Amino acid sequence: MAMMADNVFLKILDRSIPAKVAHDDDLCLAFHDVRPQAPVHVLIIPKKVIRTHADVTAADREVLGHIHLVAAKLAADLGLADGYRLVVNCGDRGGQTVPHLHFHLLGGR
Ligand code: AMP
Repeated sequence: MAMMADNVFLKILDRSIPAKVAHDDDLCLAFHDVRPQAPVHVLIIPKKVIRTHADVTAADREVLGHIHLVAAKLAADLGLADGYRLVVNCGDRGGQTVPHLHFHLLGGR
């Protein structure tokens, strides 16, 4: 039996809850944050289960590099040519609330 999705981002990945998708490929998914902190606020997540930034390993080099390329392309496509922030919150003391690695792409203000 397939593993049950145990957090909201895994449910977005398996499409059991909806999201406004901005980018989708073999390695990552990007979607608009439901509580945007800026005019553009997109979350980019690996499709591989990685719970926090502290859990990354050398095996994740490709997906991590890929996410940065996707972030730069999304920033350009979403009108953030003047600049943006790319933020990762890691762990309880780092303000992470969803236990699946995600990069916040923020801009437009
Ligand atoms: P963090 O605090 O770094 O773990 O960020 C989690 C982010 O996920 C927050 O900005 C939330 O607004 C966002 N979020 C939570 N649930 C959803 C959802 N169903 N769709 C889109 N974004 C979400």
